[in-house]
Amino acid sequence: MDIEVAIKRAGEQMAAWGQARASLEETRLEQVLTAFRNHKIGVHHLGSATGYGYGDVGRDALEEVWAEVFGAEAALVRQQIANGTQAIYLALSGNLKPGEELLYLGHPYDTLEQVIGAKVPTPCSLVESGILYREVEIDFNSPDITAVLAAIRPETKIIALQRSRGYEWRPSLSLDVMAKLIGGIKQVYPDVIVFVDNCYGEFVEYCEPTAIGADLIAGSLIKNPGGGIAPGGGYVAGNRELVERAAMRFTAPGVGREVGASLTENRLFYQGLFLAPSVVGEALRCAVFASALFTELGFHVLPTPDAERSDIIQAIQLESPERLVAFCQYIQKYAPIDSYVTPEPWDMPGYTRQVIMAAGAFVQGSSIELSADAPMVEPYIVYLQGGLNRYHGKIAISNTVRELAQRGLL
Ligand SMILES: *Cc1c(COP(=O)(O)O)cnc(C)c1O
Repeated sequence: MDIEVAIKRAGEQMAAWGQARASLEETRLEQVLTAFRNHKIGVHHLGSATGYGYGDVGRDALEEVWAEVFGAEAALVRQQIANGTQAIYLALSGNLKPGEELLYLGHPYDTLEQVIGAKVPTPCSLVESGILYREVEIDFNSPDITAVLAAIRPETKIIALQRSRGYEWRPSLSLDVMAKLIGGIKQVYPDVIVFVDNCYGEFVEYCEPTAIGADLIAGSLIKNPGGGIAPGGGYVAGNRELVERAAMRFTAPGVGREVGASLTENRLFYQGLFLAPSVVGEALRCAVFASALFTELGFHVLPTPDAERSDIIQAIQLESPERLVAFCQYIQKYAPIDSYVTPEPWDMPGYTRQVIMAAGAFVQGSSIELSADAPMVEPYIVYLQGGLNRYHGKIAISNTVRELAQRGLL
């Protein structure tokens, strides 16, 4: 296969895919605009506050806009939430008491292993606090609802689902499949809380899990919903009472959402949310381009170029550690920031295996910007995601392939 021919074909597939998607992006942007209008967002919301942050109007209105866009009763959207892991921790720990059980469908994302503390005993983990934990395997394409129902016990308080594939060779959980699953659970167990780890899923589909029955969701602002503009932060959204409990865990019992000043201008969060529908679309085009190109080159990819997507991740089986490390190094080389840096595998905090991460991003570690990461395990799958615009994705991925070929690694 001639590489230049493959690059040209992948570009054509990306363009065709993007055309079919355009109306979804327009619909999602219209939801955002409507929420801004309904809450009369004005210049006075875009600044920042200091100190305790009582009556921080920009922050409070942002949380209301967020709830509306996400089809939720309430949201906690804060700069001080350090990452997606903390947002998920707040949602779970705020709503589980000792003796109650968290039941995960499938496996949690790597950094949650220590939050849960079942496999990796960890100070302050859920398990250390007396919370029970179990996992049940599911097929993410067509989950067996009967098996899920059979796994629920009187102690089961929260059922957790991860929408994105994370670091797993499995499909993302589509909203249609998720809606059926939640409906099936709620029919028999209306009081069980369904939590969704929504990281990497925001704005990929027509709505968010909270609009189709999930009680509580969480995610990171340096992934999809920050639109590449938010400099940090995380969110929890869902039923008001559940979000309030997460907020108590976030600040202090009795204090909740009332404090936590927006120290950085709120404009970055509003503008990020406004841009998110189209930025997520750009990231998806980059993923489709990579999927099409590596398919042409004979690699196993997930998802395939024209498959349905519910997250922005593109997984590619690179089959050798040398090719995996080189891939990440070239993605870094063609990044706008830190192009001169060479990423290497390392023991990253929160991860239990060595990972390599390429992220030459304006916002450090932002993975709505083009980034590639991978745990160093067979069959050496790289997880590629992000891209603030399709041209950067195309340039970086094409040049990565050209360089891999020159080094005899293809
Ligand atoms: C990124 C991610 C997390 C954790 O978010 P961090 O911001 O890296 O802490 C959790 N779950 C999924 C599915 C993720 O993609």
